[in-house]
Amino acid sequence: MPIYPKIALELGIVAALLLLERLRPASAVQRGEWANNIVVLSLMLLGRIVLSPLIAVSESGLMSAAGGGLIDLGAWPPVLGAATYLAAMDLGEYAFHRAQHAFPWLWSMHSLHHSDRGMNVSTSQRHFWLDPAMKSVSVWLAVGLLFKADGTILTVYFLASLYHLFTHTNVAIGFGPLSWLWNSPQYHRLHHSRDPAHFNANFAALLPIYDVIFGGYRRPAAGEYPDTGLDDEAVRSPLELAVWPVRGRGGRAPASNP
Ligand SMILES: [Zn+2]
Ligand SMILES: [Zn+2]
Repeated sequence: MPIYPKIALELGIVAALLLLERLRPASAVQRGEWANNIVVLSLMLLGRIVLSPLIAVSESGLMSAAGGGLIDLGAWPPVLGAATYLAAMDLGEYAFHRAQHAFPWLWSMHSLHHSDRGMNVSTSQRHFWLDPAMKSVSVWLAVGLLFKADGTILTVYFLASLYHLFTHTNVAIGFGPLSWLWNSPQYHRLHHSRDPAHFNANFAALLPIYDVIFGGYRRPAAGEYPDTGLDDEAVRSPLELAVWPVRGRGGRAPASNP
């Protein structure tokens, strides 16, 4: 999918979700850190440009285009091929996310994502600038080596992955007894909760079944929309966003990681 339609689609979705946040907010009290999140997004885009040679040789799509990938999903029935690729990529995302909470040096970067005290649609873009490159040389590379995906499958996954905009939206929407089936703003809000009772739960990106299988599933109670953020991680200056892991307060014991 060309870059400009991708950007236009993302901006259109963000506009719709902003409207939803006004109509049905999960938390009317908390204010999101929009300015900080735009700085973080800019740093990520800059990091992507600087690190593009590294990313280019390892991203799953390019691996497939170059003939990489042990199993050719393009030869499978389209729905089965796309579903398999989505499940594999989501498992990769899941493994990386669990590692981000398990290893202090990874948490020192991922804590930036969790430090937003008013989770909203812009929080979806709040990741330390090195995060995408690390995924490119680990989980995305692993999936790219295992599966060869055609353009249709990659487009389907790209569209599905835009769902993370919705899961970070400050909106009172959950799936109740079906929470194990597909992620929702309420399910992911518990992962960002400031309440220690919610720590180490709901790591899934798209498929909460991985939380059920690997032990992290916590079904939200009716009307449960906790405050988000970290007690000790307030951002004091934009510079901190660029050097987040080494700004002196990044490390926390894994047991206390939300
Ligand atoms: Zn997390
Ligand atoms: Zn998140």
